[in-house]
Amino acid sequence: MNQVNRNPDNAVGSQPIASFRSVSKRYDSNCLVVDDLDLDIVRGEFLTLLGPSGSGKTTTLMMLAGFEWPTSGNILMDGDDITGLPPYLRDMGVVFQSYALFPHMTIAENIEFPLAVRKIAPEERRRRVAEALDLVHLGSYANRYPIQLSGGQQQRVALARSLVYRPRMVLMDEPLGALDKALREQMQLEIKQIHQQMGITFVYVTHDQDEALTMSDRVAVFHQGKIQQITSPVEIYKRPRNRFVATFLGETNTLEGLVTQCAEGFADIQLSCGSILRGRAGEGVVSGAKAALMVRPESIGVKGGPGNGLRGRLVDQHFHGDHIRLHVALDGGQALQLKVKPQEGAELRQSGETVAMTIQEEDALILL
Ligand code: ADP
Ligand code: MG
Repeated sequence: MNQVNRNPDNAVGSQPIASFRSVSKRYDSNCLVVDDLDLDIVRGEFLTLLGPSGSGKTTTLMMLAGFEWPTSGNILMDGDDITGLPPYLRDMGVVFQSYALFPHMTIAENIEFPLAVRKIAPEERRRRVAEALDLVHLGSYANRYPIQLSGGQQQRVALARSLVYRPRMVLMDEPLGALDKALREQMQLEIKQIHQQMGITFVYVTHDQDEALTMSDRVAVFHQGKIQQITSPVEIYKRPRNRFVATFLGETNTLEGLVTQCAEGFADIQLSCGSILRGRAGEGVVSGAKAALMVRPESIGVKGGPGNGLRGRLVDQHFHGDHIRLHVALDGGQALQLKVKPQEGAELRQSGETVAMTIQEEDALILL
């Protein structure tokens, strides 16, 4: 049987639109800012480079755009080596955190600029500028100047300007970083919609995990110049490959222990309270290894039922409207955070009470 491979880790079927091959980058110091990076960017995808400040995201994006050059390795586009190609020959739209609009030009003139540079005929330019303005819902602002627009509107103009000449890829570096939360969330959805409408490949840099999870087809988690994991948002949240990814994305409980057995993808781990819990075994986990059980606060149940059983003592609880947060201490000094739904009866508990918890084997990860 011919099966379509839908595993986003190794997308097949078409040639990647761009690839990094063993790319490393040092600036003046000896420190590797990007460390032997291999990355295939899938045609048409929305790929997010996510990671803490200093992890090499911007450098990676700038090398793709041609504003920085690798110390070693190659960058390909549609199979051609573009490692030394200047930015203006790469056919990529770029949007930065600072809007960088031309203050003396109107909104329409700003958006028209890349078309004028490319010597597109005036009539075609006008048509495309109108189209781009519509796309970012700024049709009535054509004749205003940047200073007359809000931050969010200016960033929309920057986006329209990067899209207007229909580049092969759009690269964005923290484009919403300067906006307040509500506007940022609205713009996230708009950018995602534009991506879906246009079908262009987007590579997006952010340090904001919510943004990455909301917008992306795939997320590449960066740490110390290396991609720690690259896969779909759901996979990266549910099956983080290592402790860095597990703790960087979302909240997680980390319970240190000793692996007592490991077989067929699952392992048992003994915690300092004496309990032995079963979970999915991560890379390199073997019997006798020191490891940690990682479990999300929302994946610990208090209603009983099947799964790993664990008992602890309620230290305190806080009501958050849609959920209640419980802080539970285990014998032996370890602590757990739980997020439970109010209808699970958690509000009836008293501090000091014993809490019987369950954790599904599927939701527990055992990582070195
Ligand atoms: P991120 O975008 O993930 O925050 P960057 O790629 O901007 O990370 O930076 C990675 C590392 O490279 C940081 O330690 C930063 O200080 C360093 N760096 C970035 N740009 C330069 C530069 N032009 N010269 C020297 N060091 C730089
Ligand atoms: Mg950066």
